[in-house]
Order: sequence, then C-alpha cells, then structure tokens
Amino acid sequence: MKTPSKSAWNSDRLDARAFAEARGHLQIDTPLTHLPRLRAEADGEEALPGDVRWEARGELRPGASGGSPSPWLHLEARASLPLTCQRCLGPVDTPLEVDRWFRFVADEATAEAQDDDAEEDLLALEPRPSLFDVLEDELIMALPLVPLHEICPVSVVFRAEDPGVEKDEAPPRKNPFAALEHLKKP
Ligand SMILES: [Zn+2]
Repeated sequence: MKTPSKSAWNSDRLDARAFAEARGHLQIDTPLTHLPRLRAEADGEEALPGDVRWEARGELRPGASGGSPSPWLHLEARASLPLTCQRCLGPVDTPLEVDRWFRFVADEATAEAQDDDAEEDLLALEPRPSLFDVLEDELIMALPLVPLHEICPVSVVFRAEDPGVEKDEAPPRKNPFAALEHLKKP
C-alpha cells in the first residue's frame, strides 16, 4: 500500500515533528473568505476575490545545546487584500507578504518561557497548531498601520490641470480680509 502524499498532513492540527522529520512541504491556496479575522479587516462586505497562496516547509535543525534536533517550519504567503485608504476612504488593494521561520518546542509553557530569549518565533508542538491560524496571525501582523493609495484616484471635484500651464508658480495669494472689506461696504 502506498503512503498517501500531501493529504497525509493535516493543516488544521499539524504534527510538526513528523512534518519536519519528513521534510514535509505543503502548498495550498486558501480563499480569503476562509480567514474570517483577516477578512474583517477588508474594505467592504462583499465576498472577497482571490486566494492566499501559501507554502509551508518543515526541517529538523540541531538543538541549541547539542540536544535532540528541533522541528522548524518555514511559512511563506502572498495575498492582496482591499483595505480602506485613510486619505480618500476608497478601497486600496494592499499586497501582504509573510516569510517567517518558526521553531517548535514541547508545549505552550515552554514557548512562553523561552520567548524572550529566542530571536525566532516559537510555536508549541502540543496542542497541534492549525497552520491556518498561524497564517492568519501572520497576515494580520503584515497589515499596514495606515493603508494609503500611492496616488488616490482623482475625485471628480478636482479638474484636470492644463498640461501647458507651469505648476511651479503658486497663484498669487489673496488677502483673506479683502472679501470682508468688500462686505463691510454699504
Ligand atoms: Zn486613497
């Protein structure tokens, strides 16, 4: 009997040690609609187009103190999410990228105890993590604090400039009191 290939890995409850030992590799397209916390950040209520393409790779690396090798996981993801531009309040397609290494430790207590000293991110082997949760956390952390268009779409309020006109010279400033002076006159 053949061993099942990719379907052997349960992304909802990953056996990270076995995944690392087997140098496992997953490549999955997850619809943005399956990531509700990320979706809540998006502009508009409609169903979001597009998928998050993500990849996970496992490997064993020698333990820090010469102990047994530790399971590591590399997570990469790319997505584009419509956020609300904070200048014009229109939707702005924002690319999100994740490229991160995680080291697995026995449990959450160990992860907390080592977290301050470790440069890499730590995850617990048990309870087995959902890669979808890890992915969603990372994508949320990749969101910009202030989403902005590079150039906001031109609003109809602004008229197109005459390309022949030199823009360098500011128009002569009007005295703001001139209008008031005018009003004062009988
Ligand atoms: Zn804008």
